[in-house]
Amino acid sequence: MEEIFPANLPSAQLGWPAASVQACRTIGDSLVSLLFPVSCIVCQQSIEQFTWSPVCPQCLEAPRPWEGTECAQCGLFLQGPVALHQTTLCGLCRRNIFRFEQARSFGSYEGTLRTLIQRFKYDGLRPLAKPLGKFLADAVRRLGTSSWDLILPVPLHIRRQRQRGFNQSALLAVQVSKLLKIPMGSSDCVRIRDTRPQTGLRAAERRKNVAGAFHVPHPERLRALRVLLLDDVLTTGATVNACAQALLEANVQAVWVATLARANLTSSDIL
Ligand SMILES: [Zn+2]
Ligand SMILES: [Zn+2]
Repeated sequence: MEEIFPANLPSAQLGWPAASVQACRTIGDSLVSLLFPVSCIVCQQSIEQFTWSPVCPQCLEAPRPWEGTECAQCGLFLQGPVALHQTTLCGLCRRNIFRFEQARSFGSYEGTLRTLIQRFKYDGLRPLAKPLGKFLADAVRRLGTSSWDLILPVPLHIRRQRQRGFNQSALLAVQVSKLLKIPMGSSDCVRIRDTRPQTGLRAAERRKNVAGAFHVPHPERLRALRVLLLDDVLTTGATVNACAQALLEANVQAVWVATLARANLTSSDIL
């Protein structure tokens, strides 16, 4: 599709809005995968049947949910002897760091799940939102309640969203909203600071990096609502916590969090 939509040609030159160009690219890519055999981007096997994205059905089914013990509040996957206890809190939750009620993640940020999330996010493979959205809905079902008034995706700063062409969390939230029949808000919480990427930062630095990064423009619309906040990957929880903080300052009743994946942390990350 590069001949038709060269990546370096600004959409304004084509006279089309960026969203239309991106949509045409997605449709075009899908047609190409229909007409020409493609290899699965995860396992490299050739895909014999029609697919909306270059991932074979086996790889789409491959991610497994976490079935071990998790922190009762933030959902951190717990390993080793601590897993013997039924109700337990991780170090951060014992220090009462998080403002949200509970967080749950579908699986570990590794293997096929990690590859699918990265391709979805960084290569713009939007059709992956549907299968990934099902995994995210499974994480939502593991939360200790099921009565939410509103789903909100963790927002990207407008500059980052323009660069990427979409907000991956919003595409996932659309799927979860459909599956669980919960209304979704789009601009009820916005990111007002374009924070530097969290990768490589320790937990305390991450919290500092995102503090005050979110804003609720119309608090009266969210007053007393029970909000389900969705994101793709949870690492230290700093981002979702800052977002939950902004929502609580806007007088929502309470915030729950679900993410597709949970990144493994070393003990030095947690400090
Ligand atoms: Zn595959
Ligand atoms: Zn915890």
